[in-house]
Amino acid sequence: MEKICVAVRVRPPAPENGASLWKVEDNRISLHKSLDTPITTASHAFDHVFDESSTNASVYELLTKDIIHAAVEGFNGTAFAYGQTSSGKTFTMTGSETDPGIIRRSVRDVFERIHMISDREFLIRVSYMEIYNEEINDLLAVENQRLQIHEHLERGVFVAGLKEEIVSDAEQILKLIDSGEVNRHFGETNMNVHSSRSHTIFRMVIESRGKDNSSSDAIRVSVLNLVDLAGSERIAKTGAGGVRLQEGKYINKSLMILGNVINKLSDSTKLRAHIPYRDSKLTRILQPALGGNAKTCIICTIAPEEHHIEESKGTLQFASRAKRITNCAQVNEILTDAALLKRQKLEIEELRMKLQGSHAEVLEQEILNLSNQMLKYELECERLKTQLEEEKRKQKEQENCIKEQQMKIENLNNFVTNSDFKRNQSEDFIISRKTPDGLCNVNDTSDVPGTPCFKSTSRSFVVARSNNYSGLSDFSPMVHSLGDVADEDTWMKLNKGFVADLDQIQFTPAVKCQPTPLSIATTVKFNEQVLLSNNLMQEMSELKQETLTVKEIPNRLSESVANCKDVYKDVIVTMKSLITDKESPTANLLLGTTEITTSLLATLETQFSMIMDGQKTGSSIDHPLSDHWETLRVNLKNTTTLLLSDAQAKDEFLNSHNKGQETAALEEKKLKSELIIIKERYNELENELCLDKQLLEASRESHEKLIKEVQFLKEERDSLDRKISQSTQRLRVIASDKENALKDLNVEVKRRKDMEEEIKHISIAFATRHKSFVSFHSEIKSKMQKLTTQNSKAP
Ligand code: ADP
Ligand code: MG
Repeated sequence: MEKICVAVRVRPPAPENGASLWKVEDNRISLHKSLDTPITTASHAFDHVFDESSTNASVYELLTKDIIHAAVEGFNGTAFAYGQTSSGKTFTMTGSETDPGIIRRSVRDVFERIHMISDREFLIRVSYMEIYNEEINDLLAVENQRLQIHEHLERGVFVAGLKEEIVSDAEQILKLIDSGEVNRHFGETNMNVHSSRSHTIFRMVIESRGKDNSSSDAIRVSVLNLVDLAGSERIAKTGAGGVRLQEGKYINKSLMILGNVINKLSDSTKLRAHIPYRDSKLTRILQPALGGNAKTCIICTIAPEEHHIEESKGTLQFASRAKRITNCAQVNEILTDAALLKRQKLEIEELRMKLQGSHAEVLEQEILNLSNQMLKYELECERLKTQLEEEKRKQKEQENCIKEQQMKIENLNNFVTNSDFKRNQSEDFIISRKTPDGLCNVNDTSDVPGTPCFKSTSRSFVVARSNNYSGLSDFSPMVHSLGDVADEDTWMKLNKGFVADLDQIQFTPAVKCQPTPLSIATTVKFNEQVLLSNNLMQEMSELKQETLTVKEIPNRLSESVANCKDVYKDVIVTMKSLITDKESPTANLLLGTTEITTSLLATLETQFSMIMDGQKTGSSIDHPLSDHWETLRVNLKNTTTLLLSDAQAKDEFLNSHNKGQETAALEEKKLKSELIIIKERYNELENELCLDKQLLEASRESHEKLIKEVQFLKEERDSLDRKISQSTQRLRVIASDKENALKDLNVEVKRRKDMEEEIKHISIAFATRHKSFVSFHSEIKSKMQKLTTQNSKAP
């Protein structure tokens, strides 16, 4: 329990009225004559007495500050100014620009205090109202007129429909007050040019709760009322009439009721039997501040002029009575929904529940999942891109490999055309041997016609093939043994100058070009892949063509041998018919030659039939090998022709000149040496054949390898195609998923917006309904009261 804090403030006297009649000593005030002699001995003591020189700052500091601080702590607080018109109430509450009043100072102080309290969070709302002619009007919203007072079990007494602005700083409040001041009712009276014709109540509701929220869920709610009352006045003095008179009546009535309330509250003997708070709106609103749960201070202002002495005395009486009132202020901790902070929390919770009910969270989760999935696919696509690049690079390598293989085949073809070389060699040989008379010279010094001579293989040019090459003979398409017999010129011509390529060929074996298997493909370079595949197909068909050509070689060779054999038989028959003497050396030579050639042809036939056991082909296109056999055939024919003409010449010579035995012996010797040369030539041809055979074998192997490679490439391309189509399919699915998710999201967003809009509408509708219900309720209540009083009067 604590007493109301009461102070008296004497305003400075108007200049024309001279010095103040009131003397202020500490917290006492007494009336003095102008000559400094007291009119009465009575003096009044109050909590504070402020003389004319006091400032609003000092009033605030000594009287109000504690209450304001207490309000921040959770106590209800009320400060109001009471006094006759023009005594300085408004000056004290509102102040001037240089000396702001209690209200402005309180507002600033509240926020300063809040900022000092770090462990609590605050919510402040303000309202500003006036009681004019016993009607409550909202100063912050002019449309809110004639508001009603209601009582709620939890909220207590409150003005229904009063606008409450939630504020975050002092300046915001001061602006609101300024705007509210404009709406206040002022009037001009004799006593005050700008006289307040209404009671104004500036109210701050301060809610707070601990930031940690651990100790308790309690919310502190305190109400701070800063009241500037309209001044009591004597009608005669104010000179009021009409509207002003009516206003004055209301003002006086409410102030009288306030006095009654204070009288009753101060009368301890009556133990507060009935306090007529309800008699006026002012007392009803101020009920908690008067003898209730609030810290209250009253500043009673008095005008120091002599002609106001009666009013001043009345004010001092009022103050003295008020001083006796005790209040029981306590921190208002609320555990119910009354606190706005808690209500807001509940509202948020409710909205969240509503949103949850709409499966928004599930959808959000789905959207999140889809986004993650999309991200994954994008990463996969990136990875596939890189892989595709890698594949392309490998494919290029393979292409190069195929090209090398092609070159290798070309080289083999060139090798096969070595017969060109032989033929040319033979032709050169024949031409060089032929003299103008059509005969060959063995050497330049001898003019004697002789048997055909063959250039023996020059051993000085024989070169061994490189160790490097022979070391990798497994991969070589060429015969290894050839190195021991071929001279450099031969090699050059066989390969058309590509001797160095022989090593290159064996360094690029097909088996070493195995591409790594593809894992996944992508659509990004699909067209390029298709192009690449087409190229591959083209190359494959070319390779097949070439393979067919290679396969035909033994067949062509075999045909050539057969032709050769036929021609040879004709030649032999012709030659035999020409030789009459069966025992002549020419006949012997022909016999020997026939035996050699027959044996050679037989060997050739056997070898070709062996080669063709593996592969059979009916094609009859021309091939370089056929030229080789053609050369062989021509060579044989030439040799036979030479032998024939030689024999004929010798026969003629022997017949016509009949030379002696010595000449015959010499001739025989010559023939024998020629036979040796022919045998050597035969051996050479046999070697050549062997070479051809090995070459064919190598070509076949290489062909098989190529076939395998082509097959592999084909499979690879197919799998690549499959993967690309799969990838495209997956991309399409992802894109459609993404589209659907976006659609869902949009729908959900729209739905949420609609819901929010709906909630807003519902809130507005609810507020309106509530308001009308409240007014309806109060109307009914008042009617019932009237009926009750009528009923009670009736008997
Ligand atoms: P009330 O509100 O009680 O009717 P006002 O506050 O309007 O009276 O004061 C009337 C006049 O007296 C105003 O012009 C005001 O400036 C002046 N006044 C009141 N109190 C003081 C004071 N303490 N110091 C200086 N001037 C004052
Ligand atoms: Mg005033």
